[in-house]
Amino acid sequence: MMTLTVTGSINIDHVIRLPEFPRPGETLTGSDYRIVPGGKGANQAVAAARAGARTRLVACVGEDALAASLIQGFAEDGIDITAIDTITGVNTGVALIQVNNNGENTIALAPGANAGLTPAQLQRHSSALHCRQLLLQLEIPLETNLAAAKTARDQGAQVILNPAPAQALPDEMLNLVDIITPNETEAERLTGIAVSDEAGAGAAARALHDRGIATVMITLGARGVWLSEQGHGRRIPGFAVKAVDTTAAGDTFNGALMAALQQRLPLSEAVRFAQAAAAISVTRPGAQTSIPYKADINAMLE
Ligand code: ADP
Repeated sequence: MMTLTVTGSINIDHVIRLPEFPRPGETLTGSDYRIVPGGKGANQAVAAARAGARTRLVACVGEDALAASLIQGFAEDGIDITAIDTITGVNTGVALIQVNNNGENTIALAPGANAGLTPAQLQRHSSALHCRQLLLQLEIPLETNLAAAKTARDQGAQVILNPAPAQALPDEMLNLVDIITPNETEAERLTGIAVSDEAGAGAAARALHDRGIATVMITLGARGVWLSEQGHGRRIPGFAVKAVDTTAAGDTFNGALMAALQQRLPLSEAVRFAQAAAAISVTRPGAQTSIPYKADINAMLE
């Protein structure tokens, strides 16, 4: 039995740096164009595999030349790629990202093949849902996440939801989740409770418990993680590092957390392992390029 299945998105990020954002109708010359592998599903699968988890990615790409090199990269990271399908007539998910001199960004997204990961498409890989853990995010259709969570749970899997990007969710979805891992913004979107301090984190976590989720981990950026089990919450501090780029911190946390759960570490130790991985990722530029391997994480923990 494969132990971790990640069902989610694959994106190609096209990033251009510009002095400022162009206005409508304007053309501005930028610099430093980069093509970066991304998508929360892909990033989290890479983080899990590099942290030592046996990982399968269920996802879709389009008919374009870049998809093949992305998939090759996943295979080189040891990810089982047999449930990644190519959908004809659409693009691989694309994000066009502009970064200005203040480090702010604008993002235009074309989901392409990620929108094609429908429940019917998922059904082709139903055996992948016979797993120990299923990790989901919100960059594929909600009905696909619902179907995946139901099937995996019926077969005894633990379902972990990283509810990103931020959106409200029906109880039908939350009822299928064992562990939820929102950041502060996502926790507020789900509960309507502002997570600006520990009291807010505690209240948001209780609201999520009330909606049927046993374990809540609210990531608090540099301040660490609010871990709440059955209503009892506490903050587990993060690692003090010099952050250069926090892109994919959350994705790294979620993936590494899966590797720790596979090792059957107690939850607080699993959170610490995942935070060590995420802290390393913020010290390095980029998304998938910044995701550490198990040896780096263990060195951080020593
Ligand atoms: P997201 O990237 O989803 O917004 P967070 O910003 O909450 O998520 O970051 C996820 C985790 O990454 C945090 O819980 C923490 O462990 C780690 N992390 C994020 N930013 C920093 C930082 N500046 N220094 C150390 N660790 C960080």
